Amino acid sequence: MRTDDTIRIMCPNLMCRKILAVPANARGKTVRCRYCRTTIRIPGSPTGKAPMPRG
Ligand SMILES: [Zn+2]
Repeated sequence: MRTDDTIRIMCPNLMCRKILAVPANARGKTVRCRYCRTTIRIPGSPTGKAPMPRG
């Protein structure tokens, strides 16, 4: 069982482009780049597994 999965995502800000490591449970959420404060949307689950709609 993997509980410490980390996603690496590049900041979309062309002036920044830092690689950010975010926890896997941040999928489908937004995080803020710690360097430029751009809000980044973390992609959802990989293909083959659709996220469960809540509510
Ligand atoms: Zn950034």
